[in-house]
Amino acid sequence: MANKLWKGDGAGCRCGAHGRNECGCPNADWTPSEVYRIRDLNIALLAKQFVMQTKIDNLKKYLDAKDELLACYRLGKRPSETLLNKLEKLNKLIGESNG
Ligand SMILES: [Zn+2]
Repeated sequence: MANKLWKGDGAGCRCGAHGRNECGCPNADWTPSEVYRIRDLNIALLAKQFVMQTKIDNLKKYLDAKDELLACYRLGKRPSETLLNKLEKLNKLIGESNG
């Protein structure tokens, strides 16, 4: 039964042992399968966290650029092309990440 598992919980065991202490198989994997599931979940969560942090960073940059644009209007100053391009680029990035 144990050798039907692909990883952990006795995968690779051919002696019918019930645990690591009974097993003499050189390639048996007695790591709890939960450890593999938790590792996979951790990788998925880290990837998701990275995506979320990137979105947050882009939103912060967008808000900073908006503040800069508002300041221009308050001062009656024409916003620079650089600022307008930055806003356009960030707006696009935010739009893509929501889609
Ligand atoms: Zn075994």
